[in-house]
Order: sequence, then structure tokens, then C-alpha cells
Amino acid sequence: MSSSNNVGFSSFFSNDTADDEDRNAADNNELRSSLKKRGKGSYTCPQGLGCTKGGVAADGSLAVFQRNSEFRTHLQKHEKAFKCNLPGCPTKKGFARIDQLRRHQETTRHKA
Ligand SMILES: [Zn+2]
Ligand SMILES: [Zn+2]
Repeated sequence: MSSSNNVGFSSFFSNDTADDEDRNAADNNELRSSLKKRGKGSYTCPQGLGCTKGGVAADGSLAVFQRNSEFRTHLQKHEKAFKCNLPGCPTKKGFARIDQLRRHQETTRHKA
């Protein structure tokens, strides 16, 4: 076993779920494992018609996500998976996208 080989390998995979799964509640696991299946499907937002993040179509019916990646991106809007870990951060909430987190870190004052 060569440990130097493993480094690149695990960072390749951590892109997907590795970091999140520890912190997220178990009720997401079922949802996530279904997303690991390849290909297309019909997904609707778990928040149903209460979704305010684009899970409801313009005509008031449930929006259907037909691609895993599309649906996962949508779920991230709810999960706000990107949390600021700088010391003195004034907010506890997370951000839906990495670029939003970066912008927060650049524009918000953090008390050291
Ligand atoms: Zn939604
Ligand atoms: Zn912050």
C-alpha cells in the first residue's frame, strides 16, 4: 500500500459527498444514496410546494428535476452546505454556493 497514491484518490472522491456526510442528519442519507444512481429520474423538492428556492414551477405545480446534478444543486440551496469557518464570523448560516461563501468572507468583517 502506498499512502501517497491515496491522497489524490480520496480528494477526487471528497468532491462528492465525503465532507458533508458526517455533519448532515441521517435523514439525508437515504436521499443522497438514491442520488448516487446514475442517469435520469424524476425528482421533486422534499419541501414540496413550500419550496421557495425554485422547486415550484411558474404555474404553481411541483417542479420536476430530471437530472441528478440538477436536483442535487437544488438541494444544496436548502442545505446551505458551505459554512464559514473563519473565527469571529458574525453569521451562523451557511451558503448555498462556494462563491457566495467566498464573497461573504471577502466583504464581511470578522472579529479576530
Ligand atoms: Zn426546494
Ligand atoms: Zn464568515
